Order: sequence, then C-alpha cells, then structure tokens
Amino acid sequence: MAKNSCQETAKKQAKKSTTSYRRVLLKISGEFIMGDFTYGIDPKMVDWVAREIYLVSKSGAEICLVIGGGNIFRGISAEVAGIERVTGDYMGMLATIINSLAMQSALERHNIQTRVMSALPIAAVCEPYIRRRAMRHMDKGRVVIFAAGTGNPFFTTDTAAALRASEMGCHALLKATKVDGVYDADPMKVSTAKRYDRLSYMEVLTRDLKVMDASAILLARENDIPILVFSINHSGAFADVVQAKGRYTIITE
Ligand code: UDP
Repeated sequence: MAKNSCQETAKKQAKKSTTSYRRVLLKISGEFIMGDFTYGIDPKMVDWVAREIYLVSKSGAEICLVIGGGNIFRGISAEVAGIERVTGDYMGMLATIINSLAMQSALERHNIQTRVMSALPIAAVCEPYIRRRAMRHMDKGRVVIFAAGTGNPFFTTDTAAALRASEMGCHALLKATKVDGVYDADPMKVSTAKRYDRLSYMEVLTRDLKVMDASAILLARENDIPILVFSINHSGAFADVVQAKGRYTIITE
C-alpha cells in the first residue's frame, strides 16, 4: 500500500509538534462504554472517554476515533438468533453508529467540535465517509469519529481502526483497553500472565496474542503505524500515551 503525500506531510508535521504523536486514532471497544451494564451505553463511561479526549485535544494533537459496537450487537452472535451472518454484521455496524452519536454528544458537551462520518451512508444522521473531507476536518482540529467500521461485513472495528489510521496518515493507533498493555494471557484471570513492554507486529501474530485481528495488525505494519495498547481507566492516561509517557505496550516493526 503506497503512502500518499498527505501522510508524508502529516509525518513531517509530527516532528515539529510538542506531542510525540501529533495525529492519533483512538480505538475504543463497545464493551468499554458499556461499563458495568450488561448491554448498551453507560453515559458515565462515554463522558469519561470524552474527558480523556478533551485533555488531549487541548495539547493540539489531532484526534480521530473508532468505536466498536459489541455493547449492542456483534454479527457473530446473530446466527444463534437465526439471523444470517451478513445481516448480523450490518446490525453490528449500525450499533457502532449509535455509539458514535453518543460519543459526539459527550464531546460536544466539552465544547469539542466533532464530526461523525459513517462508512454506511445515513444522510439524515451523519456525514458519509469521504477521505478528503475527513482530512479537512482533522486539519481544522475537529475530532472525527469513524462510524460503521469498514462498511463491509466479516470485518471488525479493529480493522476499521487500522484502515482509517492509515488513510488519515495517523502517527499512532492507540487501542484503549481495561489493562495496561499486552499480556500472554488474560491478567484478570491468570495471575502469572506476562506483560510485554514492546512487541513486533510479527510477534503478535506468531504468538497469537489477542490484541487486535490479524488484518488490523498487518495493515498497521504495512503502513508503519505503531499500535499502543493502554488502559484508559486512569485519568490522563490517553494524554500520557499520546506523549509516549505512562504505561503501555508498543507494537512496531
Ligand atoms: N462490523 C462489521 N464490519 C466492520 C466493523 C464491524 O461487520 O467493518 C460488525 C461486526 O458484526 C462486529 C460488530 O460490527 O462484530 C461490532 O464491531 P466490533 O465487534 O469490532 O466491536 P467491539 O468489539 O470493538 O465493541
């Protein structure tokens, strides 16, 4: 995949910035904004993420966002309900639009200009995804939320995050989780789980570490975008990671 001139320009600008990563994509799972609920959106969690974004936006970094839909619907679970997989995936994509709208409202409460751009056009609700228009929003300092994943079934929002980060020329893809990095087992269940500070893209794939889908990892590798996995449970964590501070696992070449 060839890097374009916008990406090159953005990379040059990054060097002049006071923040370590000037343009970043934040990936939040639907599960995170579900909080302690068993389904749907916990407004407290959405507001928490909005506040984290507010702290980063004050530093002048350019931020875009991909939010999952697992708190509402996942295509893979549709078949159990007798719904065919592809239809289920479209339902999952619609779920990400619902989450994106909730996040837009929360960000606007913090006076952050925000645009939702959907890979599935819903003209009455949000803008359609048009790469050049998204670039323009980001150049103007608006937060852009990319909704409806890639717009295609059989993908996930992790892949959408890597895709949009590549298209926007992001300097890093930040994956927010409940734990402070990548482990070789679930640290919530296995007390002896080993944490990694740094991994290569290929190590993630060959060790089958459950960080992001293989397609997301490969896309990030192809476009030389580091993936930083961190916990967004601590106040200021997102701002720290954007400045390459705090605790996170970095995945690079
Ligand atoms: N989805 C899809 N194509 C995409 C992105 C998402 O079909 O490009 C569907 C898929 O069914 C997925 C659901 O949307 O299960 C919700 O996304 P995801 O599971 O990635 O959400 P998360 O786990 O991050 O909350």
